[in-house]
Amino acid sequence: MIKSEKIIRSTCPYCGVGCQVDLQIKDEKIFRVDAPFGVAPNFGRLCTKGRFGVDYVHHPSRLTKPLIRKEIGTKPRKAIGMEGFREATWDEALDLAAEKFVGIVRKKGGDAIGSFCSAKATNEDNYLFQKFVRGVIGTNNIDHCARLCHAASVAGLQISLGTSAMSNSIAEMKDLDVFIVAGSNTSETHPVISTFMREAVVKNGAKLIVVDPRQIEMTQFATRWLRQKPGTDVAVFQAMAQVIIQENLYDSDFIQKRVDGFDDYAASIQESTPEWAEQISGVPAAEIRESARLYANAEKAAIYWGMGISQSVHGTDNALSLANLALLSGNLGKTGTGLNPLRGQNNVQGCSDAGGLPNVFPGYQSVTDPESRAKFEGDWGVVLNPEAGLTTMEMVDAAEKGVIRGYYVMGENPMMSEPDLRHARHVMEELDFVLVQDIFMNETAEYADIILPATSFAEKEGTFTNSDRRVQLIREAVPAPGIARNDSDIIADLAQRVEEKLGKKTTAGFEFDSASSIWDEMARLTPPFQGITHARIEQEDGVHWPCPTPDHPGTPYLFADTFPSGKGQLTPLNYRPSQELPDEEYPLLLSTGRVLYHWHGGTMTRRSKLDDIYPDPTVEVHPKDAKPLNIHAGDWIKVRSRRGEIKVKALVTKRSRPGMVFIPIHFAEAAANELTLDARDPQAKIPDYKVAAVVIEAM
Ligand code: SF4
Repeated sequence: MIKSEKIIRSTCPYCGVGCQVDLQIKDEKIFRVDAPFGVAPNFGRLCTKGRFGVDYVHHPSRLTKPLIRKEIGTKPRKAIGMEGFREATWDEALDLAAEKFVGIVRKKGGDAIGSFCSAKATNEDNYLFQKFVRGVIGTNNIDHCARLCHAASVAGLQISLGTSAMSNSIAEMKDLDVFIVAGSNTSETHPVISTFMREAVVKNGAKLIVVDPRQIEMTQFATRWLRQKPGTDVAVFQAMAQVIIQENLYDSDFIQKRVDGFDDYAASIQESTPEWAEQISGVPAAEIRESARLYANAEKAAIYWGMGISQSVHGTDNALSLANLALLSGNLGKTGTGLNPLRGQNNVQGCSDAGGLPNVFPGYQSVTDPESRAKFEGDWGVVLNPEAGLTTMEMVDAAEKGVIRGYYVMGENPMMSEPDLRHARHVMEELDFVLVQDIFMNETAEYADIILPATSFAEKEGTFTNSDRRVQLIREAVPAPGIARNDSDIIADLAQRVEEKLGKKTTAGFEFDSASSIWDEMARLTPPFQGITHARIEQEDGVHWPCPTPDHPGTPYLFADTFPSGKGQLTPLNYRPSQELPDEEYPLLLSTGRVLYHWHGGTMTRRSKLDDIYPDPTVEVHPKDAKPLNIHAGDWIKVRSRRGEIKVKALVTKRSRPGMVFIPIHFAEAAANELTLDARDPQAKIPDYKVAAVVIEAM
């Protein structure tokens, strides 16, 4: 048996559960991953990705040196592999990158740069990234994949409560009486959280209501399974609210003290009966009624949701309709009760918290608020752009119009994650300059002029914030490959070069000697973080923000006394159908999502042993749809939409309804986003990845 030379405590680099891991190291390699017992949030549990999937750190295709496109400046730029790049020194690559950015800024202004920060990078990396983009480049055009996963949850919760994070900590799940899981295939997307949910059901007798069009594993533990047609969630939740009001199941005391808008909301919902919702969603009215009673009558009830709710043209309305249920029933502000969007990536919460969004500084302080701006201007010693920036998809639109001329992409892969990829690729071809900073070559880096090699989670220090707002440490466990550098060091070096060329300097500067000192600067400027330091996180194995002072214990659950907006807001809503529904030419409804063995664009899991278990792109097809086309399990078939076509392996299964197909998002060779459309939620600007019309063909 191999004996480890050292064991390094860190945080899993995959999903937003933020499991604590013990990396066992021998010969400067991770050879095994365990989970410490007795430590939140996972208490000794790990899923297959956390336990077996971190071998990507040592994959031979890691980027080890800066790379410069051999034919830099040629347009339209084409996607090229490694052979199209030459190796460079850090000085050459960073000087050239600085020169290119400065050239664009001088000619077109800072708003001609679009930037993508990273839900995989640390809080400290993202703080520094947005400081560079805002303070030096001079634009708020900064966004990240939160736009593409939970922007609608953020928008909805901001309207109803004035804040957008998960209400409750994971540890509170075991005490639930009733919980709703909507649009979340939890056992595949957040596997360790699903074990706590299952424990609540199996051991403690909690009642689970699953709302999902697919027969996901969690339905096996459900008291009620509401199998709605994709895109009809609002109708189901509106009808549940109608039952709660009509049967006087609402918490009048809570509403009187803590909620605004009850009368208008109650009047607006009179016609939204379970029978009306059944017509739209296909969920039997009786099931809707029973579910509403179960949820409203519970002592402690919570709602958890995933991207099935948020990645929709009515994602904000979906989140608002869930918030309405919680506000009506008073299921907020007590331990275990609340509204919980399950965040997808390891640090998507932290990246947003650190200001990786176009409209807010760290801690959600608005860039358009003169007082907030003055605070950051005073500290950084610069004049900041007073206009909110563009979201990811708006940046694509602006690039198409020639308004944005350059991209800085850190640890994101928009050429996999954007909807309607053919369109996104076309836009990329016409940019003047693209800088990509990552650990692997990926579909976006293929369009770069310069690629900067970064370190992985196992090669640096810093913090990730998990889905339940727990700030946790990652630690350097193994050396970086080649001359790869930490994201923060790269940003700081680039920022100083750009400042020098632009002839300006921020007073707070970019000279930091550690991740901890970057955190301290961010915390100084961000009230909910002011009681948190790296030393404290180390001592306490993680701290939940808000934590405004050093003697504050942190906040595992929110809203005990009040909401950030004062009172919660009930919001009247109208059900609207999805933008593109099946028709004669494209008769099937496409939904996309994740599978257990892979993660997002696959950049990491496709380079781990996990790829041996799930190596091929797949499509779930119902037997009723497969049979007439002579499609059998394992056949390679074509899936086509109005935007593109991919070849995938058929999984003939009853998991999805007849008339619906499901495609995982992880496979670059058959990217589901070749098929999706760029219809967006009007408020959150999140694309609809869950409803598009497609046709399938045997090959
Ligand atoms: Fe990692 Fe998420 Fe699995 Fe935990 S549940 S081990 S954080 S992928």
